[in-house]
Order: sequence, then structure tokens, then C-alpha cells
Amino acid sequence: MTFAEKLRAELATVTVKPNCCRRALAEGLLLGAEIDGQRQIHVRYTQEAVAELAVEILSRQYGKAPEVTQWGKCGHRYWDLSLSAPSCLKYLRSLDAEDACVDSVFHFQCDACRSVFLRGVFLAVGTVSDPHKSFHLEFKLPHARMRLLSAFLTEMSYPARTVTRNGQAGIYYKDSSSIEELVTVMGSGTGIFEIMNSRIEREIRNNENRATNCVARNIEKTIAAATRHIEAINKLMEAGKLESLPEALQETARQRYANPDASLDELVAIHVPSISKSGLNHRLQKIMEAADEI
Ligand SMILES: [Zn+2]
Repeated sequence: MTFAEKLRAELATVTVKPNCCRRALAEGLLLGAEIDGQRQIHVRYTQEAVAELAVEILSRQYGKAPEVTQWGKCGHRYWDLSLSAPSCLKYLRSLDAEDACVDSVFHFQCDACRSVFLRGVFLAVGTVSDPHKSFHLEFKLPHARMRLLSAFLTEMSYPARTVTRNGQAGIYYKDSSSIEELVTVMGSGTGIFEIMNSRIEREIRNNENRATNCVARNIEKTIAAATRHIEAINKLMEAGKLESLPEALQETARQRYANPDASLDELVAIHVPSISKSGLNHRLQKIMEAADEI
């Protein structure tokens, strides 16, 4: 089962008691439905648990059980429901009316209605990527209904991005915080923890990567500095100028030459006689200046 299928299976089992919320759930489940020339309503679901819930909810809401046809083989199965009910037809026509707006089309009566509607929409036309791979939640629906769902989501304080592909609209989110909140609002108890856990794991991984990159950068810097020092000392030796430097600089040059992989801190620790880091830096600077003068 994909993550989206697991989430849908979980959401399909959440019980809905008040009549107003059942109606809101039916309206959400029908957001991808179409009407044919014989005034027959058709709606397709890609998951058995969702089709079963839709049959139960639509039967109660419209007083008539939809006919169910199952198609396809494992991996690509879908369930087509068909129904003819005047009040359902009226709702679908109102969805596609030019002046349709959230308040005129949907019937939200209690505080929970909107969440239940959103759950129905997700079950019918929603999908979500595996949070261990990426964060992407999308609703795919007929283009004419994009504006309506977008307005609903904006009213809920979740403005979404939209895209159109082959006459179908996609309304989507890519940020983990909106996805976490939406999945919570839909009523998920276990799916939400998987999303949150993957976000936290990802944050920890990013921090570790940042720390590793920082260490790698420091090692590169150490090597680059040591290479410059050794080059300068070689140049001084070849020119026979090393012996003419003050004794302290010669001593530092010898120790740098003997420990090419040591960082400055390590060089300070092994330096005899002992020296401060700034003192060591100063001497190395002098050695490089002397080499530059050649
Ligand atoms: Zn309600």
C-alpha cells in the first residue's frame, strides 16, 4: 500500500454522526463526479475503502444506493459508482454554475462540517506523496471546479498553488507545515505522525549534513594553508635562505615541514618551545613573506 492509500484507508474509517456533517462528506466525495446525457451521475474511486464509504454515505444522503462497477486488475483497480437522484444532480449543477461560490454551493452547518467536507474531497480526488521521499499533497479535479475548491481552501487559511494539465486542475501544497495541518484537519490520527516523523528525521539529517560539510570545509582550509606553508619553506631551502632567518622562524619552519598534515591547533600543541596560536600564525606569515621576497 502506498502512503496515500494508507491515509485514505484510515480516513475512510473515521465515523461521522451529525446529519449536517454526513451531507458535507457526501458533497466532498462527489467533487470529481460527472453527469452524462441521461442525467445519470458517475463518480470513480481508486480505492475500495473509499468506494464502500461513498456507497454508504450517498445511499443515506440521496435515499438510493449507487450502482457499483469494479474495473481493472491489481495495481490499477477502480470503482465506478452511478446514481440518479434529483437532489444530487442539483448539487452537481450548482458546482459548475458560473456564479458558484462556497456559500451558495456547500452546506456547512456546524464547526466540524468543513473538516469532514475536506476529508471527503481528499478521499475522492486527493493524493499525497510518501513523506519519506517528498512533501506533496494534491487535489485533482475538473478544471471548472478548481476556483471553488481554491476559494474554500483559502477561506480555511490554506491558500494553495494551482496547475492545469490536460483540462484537469491540480491544487497542491509542497510545504510540510500546510500538509501536516491539512491532514490533521481531515481527521488523521496515525498518518499525521508518519508525516511529522519524516519531517523531523529530515531536519535532523539536514543538520548533520550541515555539520559534516562544515568539518569538510575546515579540513580543506587546513590542507590549503599547510600546502602554502610547505611551498614557502621549500622555496627558502632551495634558495639557501632558510638558514638566514631568525632562529625562532627556522624552528617553526622545521616543525611545520615535519608535520605537514597538522592543523594550526595541533602544531601549537606539539611546538617546542611552546607558543601561542597567534604567535605561530605570525611566524608562519613571516616565513611566507620571506619566501615571497625571493
Ligand atoms: Zn456538521
